[in-house]
Amino acid sequence: MAKVAMGLALALGLTSFILSQESPTYYLNLREPIYFVVDPSFSTGCDGDTDVCVKKRLDVFRAGLDDWFKHFPKRFRPKTIIVFSPEEMPLRAVNFPISLQIKENGCVLGVPPTKYFGCYLTDSGSPRIIFNDPGQITTPTSAHEFGHALGLNHRDTYSIMSWGKGNKVLPIDMNDLCNLHQECPPHDETWCEGTFYDSCRCPSESFEASEESKRVCE
Ligand SMILES: [Zn+2]
Repeated sequence: MAKVAMGLALALGLTSFILSQESPTYYLNLREPIYFVVDPSFSTGCDGDTDVCVKKRLDVFRAGLDDWFKHFPKRFRPKTIIVFSPEEMPLRAVNFPISLQIKENGCVLGVPPTKYFGCYLTDSGSPRIIFNDPGQITTPTSAHEFGHALGLNHRDTYSIMSWGKGNKVLPIDMNDLCNLHQECPPHDETWCEGTFYDSCRCPSESFEASEESKRVCE
């Protein structure tokens, strides 16, 4: 029986965020392509050129996927492939495709009913990432919901999978991912990005706040 994971995006200063109640019952095989099928609803609210509008939304979403997978060297990087119809799927795909949808009130879940900005649902055996409306397609929310698709539940400490505390994939998230999957394709152990607001990416460094824009973690 598939369970439901759900997400809530909140605006908390620099972070936007998410909440789920139960972890998904399965996770993706990182060594096989991961497919997303863009549902027709993904163009909801597009003005003008629909293709351009959908592409912009997908760029934001893909940045959330990249936030996980950019930590793998290119030759080991898990592949994510976006298609626009189930017919484009290969016959022998190992990973079940994830539908990308926009659905007003599609993430009203729980008791009492709570409205979430985004959610990852696996009920009915059909995994899908749903955004409540186009304005809630953000990179952190995409990364968070994809984290659920990867099999991760929420964590209390600062992380992309925490609630209201983080907006980027961090080493702790990668550790969780690799522990859950019991192995990972080789990935970078050195985290070279860092800003004043993401100091956990440079754990051994102290610096002046005024140096932020010049700061490079080694
Ligand atoms: Zn969540």
